[in-house]
Order: sequence, then structure tokens, then C-alpha cells
Amino acid sequence: MANITIDKACCKGCNICLSACPKKVFVKSKKRNNYGTSMPDVNKPESCVVCRMCERLCPDGAIDVEGE
Ligand code: SF4
Ligand code: SF4
Repeated sequence: MANITIDKACCKGCNICLSACPKKVFVKSKKRNNYGTSMPDVNKPESCVVCRMCERLCPDGAIDVEGE
């Protein structure tokens, strides 16, 4: 299973990753980033196919996907 992390120091809560992920791994959450705005959470890491679209499309480089 992939290990997916979102860096709360970088994420600005744009939610682009929610639409970028073909497997709907990310969900909106009540978590707060360091800017104090809502940030997504990783909901279904077992569904990740390690396509890395989220890493590529996150404008702030906040997502890290480890896996094969
Ligand atoms: S795309 Fe990046 S900056 Fe935008 S909500 Fe997702 S992790 Fe945060
Ligand atoms: S690597 Fe692909 S499948 Fe996995 S969370 Fe990112 S966009 Fe979704």
C-alpha cells in the first residue's frame, strides 16, 4: 500500500488533489494546515495506484507518495 503524506506546512487547501486523483484517495477534512485553512485528508490509501498525478498537480509540492 502506498504511503501518502500531505505536508501541512506547504498545503494551502486548494483541493486540486481531490479532482486530480483518479481513485478519489483524498477527501475534504477539518484538518488545518499551517495557514489555518482546511486541508484534505488521505482517505483510501489502499486505492492508490501510484500514478503520481497528485504530486505533479499540487501547486505547492505538498504531497509525497511512496510506493511502487
Ligand atoms: S493540491 Fe496540494 S496544496 Fe492543494 S489541497 Fe491538495 S495538497 Fe494542498
Ligand atoms: S498517486 Fe495517483 S492514485 Fe495515488 S493518491 Fe496520487 S493521484 Fe491518487
